[in-house]
Amino acid sequence: TVAVVLFTSDLRLHDHPPLRAALRAADEVVPLFVLDPGIGAAGFEAPNRCAFLADCLADLDASLRERGGRLVVRSGPVAQQVGAIAAECGAGEVHMAAGVTRYARRREELLRTVLRERGATLRTHDAVITVVAPGAVTPAGSDHYSVFTPYFRRWSQQRLRDPCRAPRTVPVPVTMHGEPLPSRDAVPRISPGLPAGGESAGRKRFHDWEASGLDAYDVQHDSLAGDMTSRLSPYLHFGALSPLELVREASAHGGTGAEAFVRQLCWRDFHHQVMAARPASSVEDYRPRHDRWRTQDDAAEDITAWKEGATGFPVVDAAMRQLRHEGWMHNRARLLVASFLTKTLYVDWRIGARYFLDRLVDGDIVNNQLNWQWVAGTGTDTRPHRVLNPVVQGKRFDPRGEYVRRWVPELREIPDGAVHEPWRLPADRRARLDYPDPLIDLAEGLARFKHARGRI
Ligand code: FAD
Repeated sequence: TVAVVLFTSDLRLHDHPPLRAALRAADEVVPLFVLDPGIGAAGFEAPNRCAFLADCLADLDASLRERGGRLVVRSGPVAQQVGAIAAECGAGEVHMAAGVTRYARRREELLRTVLRERGATLRTHDAVITVVAPGAVTPAGSDHYSVFTPYFRRWSQQRLRDPCRAPRTVPVPVTMHGEPLPSRDAVPRISPGLPAGGESAGRKRFHDWEASGLDAYDVQHDSLAGDMTSRLSPYLHFGALSPLELVREASAHGGTGAEAFVRQLCWRDFHHQVMAARPASSVEDYRPRHDRWRTQDDAAEDITAWKEGATGFPVVDAAMRQLRHEGWMHNRARLLVASFLTKTLYVDWRIGARYFLDRLVDGDIVNNQLNWQWVAGTGTDTRPHRVLNPVVQGKRFDPRGEYVRRWVPELREIPDGAVHEPWRLPADRRARLDYPDPLIDLAEGLARFKHARGRI
């Protein structure tokens, strides 16, 4: 007998319940990945993620080959391709991780229909993409938690399954063939500082960081200059690492750093259960609060300055340039540039979220859209009217200005915290800097936001 394992956002061999179930149910398996042109057509084919995906697939294929198998890659509409493969190999079952987004759910529906017509069954597996399945814990009277802290409390009390070991052998029918794997080298316009993708690189990154950064995570994670966070987000986005395995390993490691890291991983699950219950929040306000965002037409110049890192607010510009260079940005930087766009420039959060999705290697419809909404005040933040002042934030999280000087070379000669307010420099020094004046008077921006808020 043969079973198909459809890989999606779970590009790994360790802790992979669908693969384990398929290997138990059948003599041979077809590890399948489908490059669906629908994803590109929907505008979600960002170069950085395509390159990282190519690495993930190459690594998965190499790991399968070490176990006597290989990855079968096909391109085309996913349901059609899976149906064709199931027919070719006579598979009775297709195993895959249960999805959360609207796209993933629609894909499951289509697959179920196509497979039923062929006499085969789709088996979806929960808690592969998240630690706890969306909907597994709910508050009284609702289908999801809309506040993080009570969710975290319940989430922490869940009994977690043991991670599954990577299989020793993966027998694949000799007759099954795929297309050549996509190559990172063929992807144009990727960020120069993009990390290498894949399960092997992700596991190494976690183990190195566990030894060097985990213990201090609780005190260091907000330091922009320190850059001490795990940088595991792209591996988690593609499922090259299992979030459940990370929680188990961090909990076994112990200490306050590990506790803070596990709490951060819970944010990922929290957003997944919100999105599962309210899939429209990828585009619509989760809690409509404002009706007059500035749009692309109203704010074209401000939006361009923000994207290009030319707002005249050094910490904002540093962050936006880091995004361009690395396809990644520190969480504190994401918070403050998103607050600046939505609450100081008063631009629609969807415009910022779209730009992040175009650039981020970890760009994720769940985490990105819901974090943008959190910052914009239309999401799950219990203090939706807080505004992050970029000067205060810069001084607090980059007190010596190292982060700014790393990314904004025009300000490299400005010492320490003075770098956060170049407009306060003596006029002759200021005039010699090839750096823009502030795009907006902060007090004016805040007044605009307060005024809009007052109308709600
Ligand atoms: P660490 O601090 O080491 O945290 C460990 C892991 O916990 C992360 O890899 C991530 O998987 C998870 N995590 C941490 N914070 C959050 C959070 N607030 N929400 C959800 N998961 C979290 N994260 C994405 O993975 N994809 C996105 O597209 C994304 N867009 C964001 C947009 C905005 C405006 C903001 C404010 C945050 C966004 N985040 C996103 C969340 C967070 O900024 C990143 O997960 C984090 O910066 C990744 O770096 P790290 O792996 O070093 O994180």
